[in-house]
Amino acid sequence: MDCLFCKIVEGSIPSKKVFENENIVAFHDIQPAAPIHVLIIPKEHIASMNDVTPKNLPIIAEIHQVAQKIAVDLGIAESGYRLINNCGRDGEQTVHHIHYHLLGGAKLGALTG
Ligand code: IMP
Repeated sequence: MDCLFCKIVEGSIPSKKVFENENIVAFHDIQPAAPIHVLIIPKEHIASMNDVTPKNLPIIAEIHQVAQKIAVDLGIAESGYRLINNCGRDGEQTVHHIHYHLLGGAKLGALTG
């Protein structure tokens, strides 16, 4: 499958990993939008939020636990952070393997439409 994030999962494209277990990988975004910008992805290829099924829900839940842990490990749990999923064209999803942006390390701007 020609998927950038599947290649990061299998290791054929390098990444700066901050977390990995049997289900999930997290790595620094190549074009950070904040001082801390980590992408958290399931190892299983799920194209987008639209493709999440009841079977996937344990992994989606686990991503939240992993985000919590990374926030502690990177020192932004107290100051706060955002966990964002972009879905589809209007959501400006550019990589079609579901991922969550963990952003922090500075006061983030207001969300705009
Ligand atoms: P999206 O716009 O929500 O789909 O986010 C895709 C993200 O992947 C963007 O923030 C990109 O900077 C990031 N990205 C693209 N290629 C790479 C890579 O090879 N390593 C790490 N991050 C990447």
